Amino acid sequence: MPEDLKDTSRLCLHTITTKPWTLEQCIDGCLRHDIPWITVWREHIEPYGAKEAGRLLRESGLKVASLCRGGFFVSASGRGREDARNENRRIIDEAAEIGAPLVVLVCGADPEVPLPEARQQIVDSIHHIEPHAKAAEVRLAIEPLHPMYADTRSAVVTMDQANNLLLALGSPWVGLAVDVYHVWWDHFLRAEIQRAHESLFAFHVCDWRVPTRDLLNDRTVMGDGCINVPQIRGWMEEFGYRGPIEVEIFSEELWAMDPERLLKRIKNGYLRST
Ligand code: ZN
Repeated sequence: MPEDLKDTSRLCLHTITTKPWTLEQCIDGCLRHDIPWITVWREHIEPYGAKEAGRLLRESGLKVASLCRGGFFVSASGRGREDARNENRRIIDEAAEIGAPLVVLVCGADPEVPLPEARQQIVDSIHHIEPHAKAAEVRLAIEPLHPMYADTRSAVVTMDQANNLLLALGSPWVGLAVDVYHVWWDHFLRAEIQRAHESLFAFHVCDWRVPTRDLLNDRTVMGDGCINVPQIRGWMEEFGYRGPIEVEIFSEELWAMDPERLLKRIKNGYLRST
């Protein structure tokens, strides 16, 4: 059941949502608006370094849901794939340093690599980095992306494909990040959420703006688009998800707004339409 109209105990802010802010401003914004969870993007860590970012986060008392993002494993060259694995090992270390128990993976795609081969490369690379994740006690979440990103961002574009990768990997350290923006259209969504059950590691929310004017940065706040977010959240909870509800919104329009006003709008959207 959804919380009452004041409960924000599961609300989580992705720092990319308030992109113009620094990490410190994001932290302060969360504290002012009773947002207890934060997911940190690497670009927000970079100006501070992971050690200092970790200190700021620990001192804030906020709970860190995850680090965004790792992945991009696919490459036509063996050297490219090896570099990506090493980069992901560094990202796992960074997650451990900032106290993030999870790294979200955008798995990668390369127009020169056929999609089935790309998916095999993804399985191989996650298999290679999994021991590093386990040693660091950092879980990995495969995020299937919307099929429009199959050219350069992810060869994993359905929940079915993501669940199949989990099956191939067979590790309790690897699960799924379900983002409503990417999977809302899928006729088999409920069945695939059920299939994932204990592998449901993260839940990202926003809304699909109608009409969408830009395929990269035109998401909107929950309740302002055409996704039935409460229904998808209901399925996540029906099959065992109890974690934070993470607001991740890429939008040139909303980034141009005063972030303070945006956070009020997000909280409202979360309480009424999530
Ligand atoms: Zn997401």
